Amino acid sequence: MTKKNLLLLPGDGIGPEIMEEVKKLISFLNKNKNLDLQIDEELVGGASYEKNKTPLTDDVLYKAQDSDAVLLGAVGGPKYDKLDFSKRPERALLRLRKELRLFANLRPAICFSELASASSLKKEVISDLDIMIVRELTGGIYFGEPRGIEPIQNGERKGINTHVYTTKEIIRVAKVAFDLAKKRNKKVTSAEKSNVMEAGLLWKEEVQKFYDESKDYKDIELSHMLADNCAMQLVRNPKQFDVIVTDNLFGDMLSDEAAMLTGSLGMLPSASLSEKDKNGRIRSMYEPCHGSAPDIAGQGIANPLAMILSFAMALKYSLNFDEISNEIEVAVKAVLKDGLRTPDIMENGKKKVSTSDMGSAIIDKLK
Ligand code: NAD
Repeated sequence: MTKKNLLLLPGDGIGPEIMEEVKKLISFLNKNKNLDLQIDEELVGGASYEKNKTPLTDDVLYKAQDSDAVLLGAVGGPKYDKLDFSKRPERALLRLRKELRLFANLRPAICFSELASASSLKKEVISDLDIMIVRELTGGIYFGEPRGIEPIQNGERKGINTHVYTTKEIIRVAKVAFDLAKKRNKKVTSAEKSNVMEAGLLWKEEVQKFYDESKDYKDIELSHMLADNCAMQLVRNPKQFDVIVTDNLFGDMLSDEAAMLTGSLGMLPSASLSEKDKNGRIRSMYEPCHGSAPDIAGQGIANPLAMILSFAMALKYSLNFDEISNEIEVAVKAVLKDGLRTPDIMENGKKKVSTSDMGSAIIDKLK
């Protein structure tokens, strides 16, 4: 079997600090477990701009295209806010997403029972929540044409955006959701606004048709929900869901809503996946949901768990190390149960630890 390779892009702010904990973990797993992973590391975002005057060099992009998965820390910071848009750290993310053709964004919302009191919802509603939102990332109203702002009569202006989806775009993201549900609790909820939008009706019909005609998903339960009701149900009873699949716009909102339900930004991983190319390869990028947290960078207090869980997702969905991925998830739960907390999730009676202590504690649990 050829060695899998993972490209590490630590980025800016707390990115390098939390990536350091993943590097420690990989080195431990390569030595002591059945992991055989080759890693490479490159600059991205502001860190790349400092050295190369661009947030993403072509060489790094080619490496990303060649690797089995990309693991990104975070990019950005106030230092770069005045740069021209083309040089901004965020530009690197947009270019990576576009060039790797990442069309499906996977945003798990997990609430470890040990951290349930950080949520604004009642403990019993949120404790042990584990849902996955699959957001279509490259179509819909954010990219549809025509778009723009036009003058109309009386000095007024008109703003136009177009919500557009094709059968192919809907089916490929629905397939990602069904495949994920197969590895999880076998339930898919498709969310749209079929009551008021033609593109929403098409979405609902195509997802249903794909499901009815496919032989692979007979064990999956499919339901449809209006996106506004889905937003309410996420607050009322989020545990009714397993996998939610939705378009770019509704996915943007529903995934942020679901993330905030859990109350801890430093705990949430994410993944973005491409279609299979003609050689059967899927490109992928994994990153924490949070940003570069410049307010705490360099202090050794950032929570590395979202980064570590993003790595665990890469092991499961791109690198074929499901078992080690599961072991890491169990280790995260175990250190929380032991009462270890970085300052962002600290509560009375728990033990405050640094970024590096938290990373080492995960490794200790895996020994
Ligand atoms: P942020 O997520 O960086 O920080 C929000 C708050 O959460 C801050 O108080 C921060 O200290 C805290 N926080 C975030 N992650 C944490 C962690 N792992 N451990 C402990 N505390 C954590 O969001 P922001 O402040 O709006 O943005 C800061 C910079 O990050 C901006 O330049 C923004 O553009 C960039 N950003 C990058 C990404 C990305 O790289 N994918 C995503 C969002 C924001």
